[in-house]
Amino acid sequence: MRIGQTNGQIAIAGAGIAGLSSAIALKLAGYSVAVFERERELREVGAGIQMGPHATRILERWDLDLLGSAVEPEVLELRNAQSGTLLNTLPLKPGARVRYGSPYLTLLRADLQKALLARAKELDVPIEYGAPVTGVEVAEGGAAIDVGGEHFCAAALVGADGINSAVRGLGNFHPRRYSAQAVAWRALLPLDAVPVSMRNSIVLWMSPGAHLVHYPVSGGTRINAVLAIEDIYRMDREEQGNVPAYLSRRLEGWSGTPLAAIASAPEWLKWPMFVIEKWQGGEGRVQFIGDAWHAMRPYLASGGVMAIEDGAALAVSLTESRGDIVDGFKLFRRSRGPRVWQVARASAKMGWVYHCQAPFNTIRDLAIRFSSGSRLLERRDWLYGVGRDTAVRKS
Ligand SMILES: Cc1cc2nc3c(=O)[nH]c(=O)nc-3n(C[C@H](O)[C@H](O)[C@H](O)COP(=O)(O)OP(=O)(O)OC[C@H]3O[C@@H](n4cnc5c(N)ncnc54)[C@H](O)[C@@H]3O)c2cc1C
Repeated sequence: MRIGQTNGQIAIAGAGIAGLSSAIALKLAGYSVAVFERERELREVGAGIQMGPHATRILERWDLDLLGSAVEPEVLELRNAQSGTLLNTLPLKPGARVRYGSPYLTLLRADLQKALLARAKELDVPIEYGAPVTGVEVAEGGAAIDVGGEHFCAAALVGADGINSAVRGLGNFHPRRYSAQAVAWRALLPLDAVPVSMRNSIVLWMSPGAHLVHYPVSGGTRINAVLAIEDIYRMDREEQGNVPAYLSRRLEGWSGTPLAAIASAPEWLKWPMFVIEKWQGGEGRVQFIGDAWHAMRPYLASGGVMAIEDGAALAVSLTESRGDIVDGFKLFRRSRGPRVWQVARASAKMGWVYHCQAPFNTIRDLAIRFSSGSRLLERRDWLYGVGRDTAVRKS
Protein backbone atom coordinates (compact mmCIF):
# COMPACT_ATOMS: atom_id res chain seq x y z
CA MET A 1 0.00 0.00 0.00
CA ARG A 2 1.05 3.57 -0.62
CA ILE A 3 0.06 6.37 1.68
CA GLY A 4 -1.37 9.18 -0.41
CA GLN A 5 -0.49 12.77 0.07
CA THR A 6 1.49 13.36 3.28
CA ASN A 7 2.05 16.84 4.58
CA GLY A 8 5.74 16.03 5.15
CA GLN A 9 5.38 16.39 8.91
CA ILE A 10 6.94 14.05 11.43
CA ALA A 11 4.18 13.14 13.89
CA ILE A 12 5.21 12.64 17.51
CA ALA A 13 2.98 10.67 19.88
CA GLY A 14 3.38 11.96 23.45
CA ALA A 15 4.35 15.33 24.93
CA GLY A 16 6.47 13.98 27.77
CA ILE A 17 10.21 14.62 28.10
CA ALA A 18 11.00 12.49 25.02
CA GLY A 19 8.26 13.89 22.79
CA LEU A 20 8.93 17.56 23.55
CA SER A 21 12.71 17.07 23.32
CA SER A 22 12.49 15.47 19.90
CA ALA A 23 10.05 18.17 18.75
CA ILE A 24 12.47 20.93 19.79
CA ALA A 25 15.53 19.22 18.29
CA LEU A 26 13.81 18.38 15.00
CA LYS A 27 12.32 21.85 14.67
CA LEU A 28 15.67 23.48 15.33
CA ALA A 29 17.17 21.24 12.63
CA GLY A 30 14.56 22.47 10.14
CA TYR A 31 12.01 19.64 10.20
CA SER A 32 8.27 20.10 10.33
CA VAL A 33 6.75 18.31 13.33
CA ALA A 34 3.40 17.92 15.08
CA VAL A 35 2.96 16.60 18.62
CA PHE A 36 -0.13 14.68 19.79
CA GLU A 37 -0.67 14.20 23.52
CA ARG A 38 -3.30 11.94 25.03
CA GLU A 39 -3.87 14.02 28.17
CA ARG A 40 -6.03 17.15 28.05
CA GLU A 41 -3.30 19.26 29.58
CA LEU A 42 0.24 19.09 30.91
CA ARG A 43 0.21 16.85 33.97
CA GLU A 44 1.85 18.36 37.01
CA VAL A 45 3.40 15.30 38.61
CA GLY A 46 4.63 16.44 41.99
CA ALA A 47 8.01 14.80 41.91
CA GLY A 48 11.55 15.81 41.20
CA ILE A 49 14.10 14.88 38.59
CA GLN A 50 17.88 15.05 38.42
CA MET A 51 19.38 16.40 35.23
CA GLY A 52 23.05 15.49 34.94
CA PRO A 53 25.47 17.40 32.71
CA HIS A 54 24.74 14.93 29.89
CA ALA A 55 21.26 16.52 29.76
CA THR A 56 21.95 20.12 30.69
CA ARG A 57 24.51 20.62 27.90
CA ILE A 58 21.74 19.77 25.44
CA LEU A 59 19.13 21.90 27.23
CA GLU A 60 21.57 24.83 27.18
CA ARG A 61 22.08 24.36 23.44
CA TRP A 62 18.31 24.53 23.00
CA ASP A 63 18.17 27.78 25.04
CA LEU A 64 15.92 26.25 27.63
CA ASP A 65 15.23 28.47 30.57
CA LEU A 66 15.37 26.50 33.83
CA LEU A 67 16.71 29.31 35.97
CA GLY A 68 14.68 30.07 39.02
CA SER A 69 13.21 26.61 39.36
CA ALA A 70 16.33 24.43 39.21
CA VAL A 71 18.92 23.99 41.96
CA GLU A 72 22.60 23.20 41.48
CA PRO A 73 23.45 21.00 44.49
CA GLU A 74 26.99 21.34 45.87
CA VAL A 75 27.70 17.66 46.48
CA LEU A 76 26.41 14.12 46.33
CA GLU A 77 26.67 12.47 49.73
CA LEU A 78 26.81 8.67 49.89
CA ARG A 79 25.64 7.34 53.25
CA ASN A 80 24.86 4.07 54.95
CA ALA A 81 21.17 4.30 55.95
CA GLN A 82 21.57 1.99 58.94
CA SER A 83 24.61 3.50 60.63
CA GLY A 84 24.03 6.98 59.20
CA THR A 85 27.77 7.11 58.34
CA LEU A 86 28.89 9.47 55.61
CA LEU A 87 30.92 7.24 53.27
CA ASN A 88 32.03 9.82 50.75
CA THR A 89 31.19 13.17 49.13
CA LEU A 90 31.28 13.72 45.38
CA PRO A 91 32.00 17.33 44.34
CA LEU A 92 28.96 17.62 42.09
CA LYS A 93 28.77 21.35 41.44
CA PRO A 94 32.43 22.11 40.71
CA GLY A 95 32.94 18.63 39.22
CA ALA A 96 30.10 18.89 36.72
CA ARG A 97 31.00 22.44 35.66
CA VAL A 98 34.74 21.88 35.33
CA ARG A 99 34.92 18.25 34.26
CA TYR A 100 31.84 18.08 32.06
CA GLY A 101 31.30 21.72 31.15
CA SER A 102 27.64 21.87 32.23
CA PRO A 103 25.78 21.94 35.53
CA TYR A 104 24.18 19.11 37.48
CA LEU A 105 20.63 20.29 38.28
CA THR A 106 17.71 19.09 40.38
CA LEU A 107 14.18 20.36 39.79
CA LEU A 108 10.51 19.47 39.72
CA ARG A 109 9.50 17.42 36.70
CA ALA A 110 6.65 19.87 36.15
CA ASP A 111 9.21 22.70 35.86
CA LEU A 112 11.21 20.75 33.29
CA GLN A 113 8.04 19.92 31.33
CA LYS A 114 6.91 23.56 31.44
CA ALA A 115 10.29 24.77 30.17
CA LEU A 116 10.30 22.22 27.34
CA LEU A 117 6.74 23.14 26.44
CA ALA A 118 7.49 26.87 26.48
CA ARG A 119 10.50 26.38 24.17
CA ALA A 120 8.50 24.16 21.80
CA LYS A 121 5.76 26.80 21.63
CA GLU A 122 8.32 29.53 21.01
CA LEU A 123 9.48 27.48 18.03
CA ASP A 124 5.88 27.24 16.80
CA VAL A 125 5.63 23.49 17.24
CA PRO A 126 1.95 22.51 16.95
CA ILE A 127 0.95 20.55 20.06
CA GLU A 128 -2.48 19.04 20.34
CA TYR A 129 -3.70 17.98 23.78
CA GLY A 130 -6.53 15.50 24.35
CA ALA A 131 -5.32 13.78 21.16
CA PRO A 132 -4.43 10.12 21.76
CA VAL A 133 -2.90 8.23 18.85
CA THR A 134 -5.27 5.28 18.35
CA GLY A 135 -4.32 3.86 14.98
CA VAL A 136 -1.24 3.59 12.80
CA GLU A 137 -0.80 2.23 9.31
CA VAL A 138 2.67 2.43 7.90
CA ALA A 139 3.46 1.99 4.25
CA GLU A 140 5.80 3.17 1.58
CA GLY A 141 6.03 6.91 1.69
CA GLY A 142 4.40 7.68 5.02
CA ALA A 143 2.38 6.80 8.08
CA ALA A 144 -1.39 7.12 8.33
CA ILE A 145 -2.34 7.94 11.90
CA ASP A 146 -5.65 8.10 13.75
CA VAL A 147 -5.57 10.86 16.31
CA GLY A 148 -8.50 11.85 18.46
CA GLY A 149 -11.01 10.62 15.86
CA GLU A 150 -9.21 12.23 12.90
CA HIS A 151 -7.06 10.74 10.17
CA PHE A 152 -3.65 12.24 9.55
CA CYS A 153 -1.01 11.39 6.93
CA ALA A 154 2.49 12.07 8.18
CA ALA A 155 5.89 11.35 6.70
CA ALA A 156 6.81 9.31 9.79
CA LEU A 157 5.79 8.60 13.36
CA VAL A 158 7.90 8.96 16.48
CA GLY A 159 6.49 6.95 19.39
CA ALA A 160 7.31 8.92 22.52
CA ASP A 161 4.36 7.65 24.52
CA GLY A 162 6.14 6.17 27.50
CA ILE A 163 6.59 2.79 29.14
CA ASN A 164 3.03 1.65 28.35
CA SER A 165 3.25 2.88 24.75
CA ALA A 166 0.02 2.34 22.84
CA VAL A 167 1.83 3.01 19.57
CA ARG A 168 4.01 -0.07 20.11
CA GLY A 169 0.91 -2.28 20.14
CA LEU A 170 -0.68 -0.46 17.20
CA GLY A 171 2.47 -0.96 15.15
CA ASN A 172 2.77 -4.59 16.25
CA PHE A 173 5.95 -4.06 18.22
CA HIS A 174 6.04 -6.21 21.32
CA PRO A 175 9.27 -5.83 23.28
CA ARG A 176 9.52 -7.62 26.61
CA ARG A 177 8.43 -5.38 29.45
CA TYR A 178 8.94 -6.64 32.95
CA SER A 179 8.77 -5.53 36.54
CA ALA A 180 12.03 -4.34 38.09
CA GLN A 181 10.82 -5.99 41.33
CA ALA A 182 10.97 -2.67 43.08
CA VAL A 183 8.57 0.09 44.01
CA ALA A 184 9.39 3.79 44.03
CA TRP A 185 7.77 5.95 46.69
CA ARG A 186 7.90 9.66 45.95
CA ALA A 187 7.21 12.64 48.18
CA LEU A 188 7.84 16.34 48.51
CA LEU A 189 9.17 17.24 51.94
CA PRO A 190 9.36 20.56 53.75
CA LEU A 191 12.85 22.04 53.77
CA ASP A 192 13.29 21.43 57.50
CA ALA A 193 12.76 17.68 57.02
CA VAL A 194 16.51 17.36 56.51
CA PRO A 195 19.41 18.88 58.49
CA VAL A 196 20.63 22.28 57.28
CA SER A 197 23.93 20.78 56.13
CA MET A 198 22.08 18.46 53.70
CA ARG A 199 19.69 20.98 52.17
CA ASN A 200 21.88 21.87 49.22
CA SER A 201 23.04 18.32 48.53
CA ILE A 202 21.84 15.16 46.88
CA VAL A 203 21.92 12.62 49.69
CA LEU A 204 21.78 8.90 48.98
CA TRP A 205 21.09 6.52 51.89
CA MET A 206 21.82 2.85 51.10
CA SER A 207 20.60 -0.23 52.92
CA PRO A 208 19.87 -3.87 52.05
CA GLY A 209 16.87 -3.99 49.72
CA ALA A 210 16.09 -0.25 49.81
CA HIS A 211 17.53 3.22 49.41
CA LEU A 212 16.44 6.79 49.86
CA VAL A 213 17.59 9.74 47.80
CA HIS A 214 16.66 13.34 48.55
CA TYR A 215 17.58 16.63 46.94
CA PRO A 216 16.38 20.25 46.78
CA VAL A 217 13.86 21.42 44.17
CA SER A 218 11.73 24.54 43.50
CA GLY A 219 14.65 26.93 43.78
CA GLY A 220 15.75 25.24 47.03
CA THR A 221 12.47 25.78 48.90
CA ARG A 222 11.46 22.09 49.08
CA ILE A 223 13.06 18.66 49.19
CA ASN A 224 12.17 15.87 46.78
CA ALA A 225 12.49 12.36 48.15
CA VAL A 226 12.47 9.03 46.33
CA LEU A 227 12.42 5.85 48.33
CA ALA A 228 13.10 2.69 46.31
CA ILE A 229 12.14 -0.56 47.99
CA GLU A 230 12.59 -4.04 46.51
CA ASP A 231 9.05 -5.33 46.56
CA ILE A 232 6.21 -6.41 44.32
CA TYR A 233 3.93 -3.56 43.29
CA ARG A 234 0.35 -4.19 44.29
CA MET A 235 -2.51 -2.29 42.76
CA ASP A 236 -4.71 -2.51 45.86
CA ARG A 237 -4.76 0.36 48.35
CA GLU A 238 -4.05 -1.79 51.39
CA GLU A 239 -0.45 -0.64 51.85
CA GLN A 240 -1.35 2.88 50.81
CA GLY A 241 -3.85 2.94 53.69
CA ASN A 242 -1.15 2.30 56.25
CA VAL A 243 2.01 3.63 54.69
CA PRO A 244 3.82 4.52 57.95
CA ALA A 245 3.40 0.97 59.29
CA TYR A 246 4.59 -0.53 56.00
CA LEU A 247 7.60 1.78 55.80
CA SER A 248 8.66 1.29 59.41
CA ARG A 249 8.53 -2.49 58.89
CA ARG A 250 10.56 -2.29 55.67
CA LEU A 251 13.05 0.24 57.01
CA GLU A 252 13.67 -1.37 60.38
CA GLY A 253 17.20 -0.64 61.59
CA TRP A 254 17.58 2.64 59.69
CA SER A 255 19.18 5.54 61.52
CA GLY A 256 17.31 8.57 62.84
CA THR A 257 18.03 11.21 60.17
CA PRO A 258 16.60 9.40 57.12
CA LEU A 259 13.71 8.03 59.18
CA ALA A 260 12.84 11.53 60.40
CA ALA A 261 12.89 12.83 56.81
CA ILE A 262 10.62 9.97 55.72
CA ALA A 263 8.21 10.56 58.59
CA SER A 264 7.85 14.23 57.68
CA ALA A 265 6.34 13.55 54.24
CA PRO A 266 2.75 14.79 54.00
CA GLU A 267 2.02 12.03 51.48
CA TRP A 268 3.86 9.25 49.65
CA LEU A 269 2.95 8.34 46.08
CA LYS A 270 3.67 4.80 45.02
CA TRP A 271 5.03 4.03 41.52
CA PRO A 272 5.65 0.64 39.94
CA MET A 273 9.03 0.22 38.29
CA PHE A 274 9.00 -1.42 34.89
CA VAL A 275 11.84 -1.91 32.47
CA ILE A 276 12.09 -2.89 28.83
CA GLU A 277 14.49 -5.48 27.53
CA LYS A 278 16.86 -4.74 24.69
CA TRP A 279 15.07 -4.53 21.31
CA GLN A 280 15.55 -2.63 18.07
CA GLY A 281 13.18 0.25 18.85
CA GLY A 282 11.48 0.71 15.52
CA GLU A 283 11.32 -0.12 11.86
CA GLY A 284 10.81 1.78 8.61
CA ARG A 285 8.97 5.01 9.31
CA VAL A 286 8.18 4.33 12.95
CA GLN A 287 10.75 5.08 15.62
CA PHE A 288 10.40 4.85 19.39
CA ILE A 289 12.29 7.06 21.80
CA GLY A 290 12.46 7.57 25.57
CA ASP A 291 10.74 5.08 27.86
CA ALA A 292 8.71 3.67 24.95
CA TRP A 293 11.99 2.29 23.61
CA HIS A 294 14.20 1.73 26.63
CA ALA A 295 12.54 2.28 30.03
CA MET A 296 15.24 1.54 32.58
CA ARG A 297 15.72 1.43 36.34
CA PRO A 298 16.10 4.92 37.77
CA TYR A 299 19.29 4.21 39.78
CA LEU A 300 21.57 6.37 37.64
CA ALA A 301 18.94 9.12 37.36
CA SER A 302 19.27 8.96 33.58
CA GLY A 303 16.01 7.65 32.04
CA GLY A 304 14.75 11.16 31.36
CA VAL A 305 18.21 12.25 30.27
CA MET A 306 18.25 9.43 27.71
CA ALA A 307 14.94 10.78 26.39
CA ILE A 308 16.57 14.21 25.94
CA GLU A 309 19.66 12.68 24.30
CA ASP A 310 17.34 10.68 22.00
CA GLY A 311 15.68 13.88 20.81
CA ALA A 312 19.00 15.53 20.03
CA ALA A 313 20.41 12.39 18.38
CA LEU A 314 17.32 11.86 16.23
CA ALA A 315 17.77 15.29 14.65
CA VAL A 316 21.48 14.58 14.04
CA SER A 317 20.74 11.22 12.39
CA LEU A 318 18.05 12.64 10.10
CA THR A 319 20.31 15.50 9.09
CA GLU A 320 23.21 13.13 8.40
CA SER A 321 20.99 11.04 6.18
CA ARG A 322 19.94 14.20 4.35
CA GLY A 323 16.33 13.98 5.41
CA ASP A 324 15.83 10.37 4.19
CA ILE A 325 13.63 9.28 7.07
CA VAL A 326 14.00 5.52 6.79
CA ASP A 327 17.81 5.78 6.59
CA GLY A 328 17.85 8.42 9.31
CA PHE A 329 15.85 6.24 11.71
CA LYS A 330 18.14 3.30 10.91
CA LEU A 331 21.21 5.39 11.64
CA PHE A 332 19.60 6.61 14.87
CA ARG A 333 18.98 3.06 16.05
CA ARG A 334 22.54 2.02 15.20
CA SER A 335 24.13 4.95 16.97
CA ARG A 336 21.82 5.23 19.99
CA GLY A 337 21.34 1.52 20.76
CA PRO A 338 24.75 0.89 22.35
CA ARG A 339 24.49 4.02 24.51
CA VAL A 340 20.99 3.45 25.89
CA TRP A 341 21.53 -0.23 26.65
CA GLN A 342 24.85 0.55 28.29
CA VAL A 343 23.10 3.05 30.58
CA ALA A 344 20.27 0.56 31.26
CA ARG A 345 22.77 -2.16 32.24
CA ALA A 346 24.76 0.21 34.44
CA SER A 347 21.55 1.41 36.15
CA ALA A 348 20.63 -2.17 37.01
CA LYS A 349 24.14 -2.76 38.39
CA MET A 350 23.89 0.41 40.46
CA GLY A 351 20.65 -0.88 42.00
CA TRP A 352 22.54 -3.96 43.14
CA VAL A 353 25.27 -1.78 44.67
CA TYR A 354 22.74 0.39 46.54
CA HIS A 355 20.68 -2.55 47.83
CA CYS A 356 23.23 -5.33 48.41
CA GLN A 357 23.06 -7.52 51.49
CA ALA A 358 25.80 -8.42 53.98
CA PRO A 359 28.67 -9.06 53.58
CA PHE A 360 28.73 -7.21 50.23
CA ASN A 361 27.41 -3.98 51.78
CA THR A 362 30.42 -3.89 54.12
CA ILE A 363 32.80 -4.35 51.18
CA ARG A 364 30.89 -1.66 49.25
CA ASP A 365 31.13 0.79 52.13
CA LEU A 366 34.86 0.18 52.52
CA ALA A 367 35.45 0.62 48.78
CA ILE A 368 33.53 3.91 48.79
CA ARG A 369 35.28 5.19 51.92
CA PHE A 370 38.75 4.44 50.66
CA SER A 371 38.24 6.13 47.32
CA SER A 372 38.20 9.89 46.83
CA GLY A 373 35.03 11.81 45.92
CA SER A 374 36.67 13.06 42.71
CA ARG A 375 37.67 9.53 41.70
CA LEU A 376 34.10 8.34 42.24
CA LEU A 377 32.84 11.14 40.01
CA GLU A 378 35.47 10.36 37.34
CA ARG A 379 34.09 6.84 37.16
CA ARG A 380 30.99 8.40 35.62
CA ASP A 381 32.87 10.10 32.79
CA TRP A 382 31.40 7.59 30.33
CA LEU A 383 27.91 8.70 31.40
CA TYR A 384 28.23 12.45 31.94
CA GLY A 385 31.00 13.20 29.46
CA VAL A 386 29.25 12.06 26.28
CA GLY A 387 28.63 14.87 23.83
CA ARG A 388 30.81 17.38 25.61
CA ASP A 389 32.59 18.47 22.43
CA THR A 390 30.88 16.39 19.80
CA ALA A 391 27.43 15.40 18.64
CA VAL A 392 25.49 13.64 21.36
CA ARG A 393 25.01 10.40 19.49
CA LYS A 394 28.69 9.47 19.87
CA SER A 395 28.93 6.90 22.65
C1 LIG B 1 11.24 6.91 40.74
C2 LIG B 1 11.81 7.41 39.45
C3 LIG B 1 12.77 8.42 39.50
C4 LIG B 1 13.35 8.88 38.32
N1 LIG B 1 14.31 9.84 38.40
C5 LIG B 1 14.91 10.26 37.27
C6 LIG B 1 15.93 11.24 37.33
O1 LIG B 1 16.28 11.75 38.40
N2 LIG B 1 16.53 11.64 36.16
C7 LIG B 1 16.16 11.11 34.95
O2 LIG B 1 16.72 11.50 33.92
N3 LIG B 1 15.17 10.18 34.86
C8 LIG B 1 14.54 9.74 35.97
N4 LIG B 1 13.55 8.82 35.89
C9 LIG B 1 13.13 8.31 34.56
C10 LIG B 1 12.22 9.29 33.83
O3 LIG B 1 11.15 9.66 34.66
C11 LIG B 1 11.65 8.68 32.55
O4 LIG B 1 12.68 8.03 31.85
C12 LIG B 1 11.05 9.77 31.65
O5 LIG B 1 9.99 10.42 32.32
C13 LIG B 1 10.54 9.17 30.35
O6 LIG B 1 9.98 10.19 29.56
P1 LIG B 1 9.12 9.83 28.28
O7 LIG B 1 8.77 11.12 27.65
O8 LIG B 1 9.79 8.78 27.46
O9 LIG B 1 7.80 9.12 28.86
P2 LIG B 1 6.61 9.74 29.71
O10 LIG B 1 7.10 10.76 30.64
O11 LIG B 1 5.84 8.59 30.25
O12 LIG B 1 5.71 10.51 28.63
C14 LIG B 1 4.88 9.83 27.72
C15 LIG B 1 3.78 10.79 27.26
O13 LIG B 1 3.00 10.14 26.22
C16 LIG B 1 1.61 10.36 26.47
N5 LIG B 1 0.86 9.28 25.80
C17 LIG B 1 0.68 8.01 26.24
N6 LIG B 1 -0.05 7.31 25.34
C18 LIG B 1 -0.32 8.16 24.31
C19 LIG B 1 -1.01 8.02 23.07
N7 LIG B 1 -1.59 6.87 22.69
N8 LIG B 1 -1.09 9.09 22.24
C20 LIG B 1 -0.52 10.28 22.59
N9 LIG B 1 0.15 10.46 23.77
C21 LIG B 1 0.26 9.41 24.60
C22 LIG B 1 1.52 10.36 27.99
O14 LIG B 1 0.35 11.00 28.44
C23 LIG B 1 2.79 11.15 28.37
O15 LIG B 1 2.58 12.53 28.38
C24 LIG B 1 12.94 8.35 37.06
C25 LIG B 1 11.94 7.37 37.02
C26 LIG B 1 11.38 6.90 38.20
C27 LIG B 1 10.32 5.83 38.13
